[in-house]
Amino acid sequence: MTRLSSGGRIEVICGCMYSGKTEELIRRLHHVKIARQQLQAFTPKRDTRYATGNLVSHNGVRIEAQPIGSITEVFDYLHDGVQVVALDELHFLDDEPDVVLTTVQALADRGLRVIIAGLDQNFRAKPFPAMSRLLAVAEQVDKLFAICVRCGAYATRSQRMIDGRPAPFDAPTIVVGGLELYEARCRACYEAG
Ligand SMILES: [Zn+2]
Repeated sequence: MTRLSSGGRIEVICGCMYSGKTEELIRRLHHVKIARQQLQAFTPKRDTRYATGNLVSHNGVRIEAQPIGSITEVFDYLHDGVQVVALDELHFLDDEPDVVLTTVQALADRGLRVIIAGLDQNFRAKPFPAMSRLLAVAEQVDKLFAICVRCGAYATRSQRMIDGRPAPFDAPTIVVGGLELYEARCRACYEAG
């Protein structure tokens, strides 16, 4: 008989831009706090959209997070007694995909609940390699949707725009930006650059 609290597990919250991944992560972490469990949250150093070191929801719920340059730093910062580890914007980490996989598996094997949020596809509509590995091994996967800005259908893709046009295929994969750079699009409305 398996109980939810009996061992480690990996949960992945994925989807395109504006699908509410961080909101969902914060919602789960809020419940962890209400349950008086010990948690630590981490965020890649390169995500500069929010105040450094915090996950902030649109309605103001704030979770303190440790900025890291590599996922292996989680072990350096991990406190005794922590039951839940959260990682937001996982796709921003520069680590090799198998390093991400091995590290997250090691955390779960220690009995930790590991909750990951991140983009599943890049602006080319190709899988982020580390995320696709985690999706394969996770105990729980939730794929969130945004709304296509063109037609109003459910959107699963992040259309990157440069000067109002789809970004070329060979543009850099990662550019940290806001509304002016990305649009949520459905499969039909997505345009290959
Ligand atoms: Zn559409």
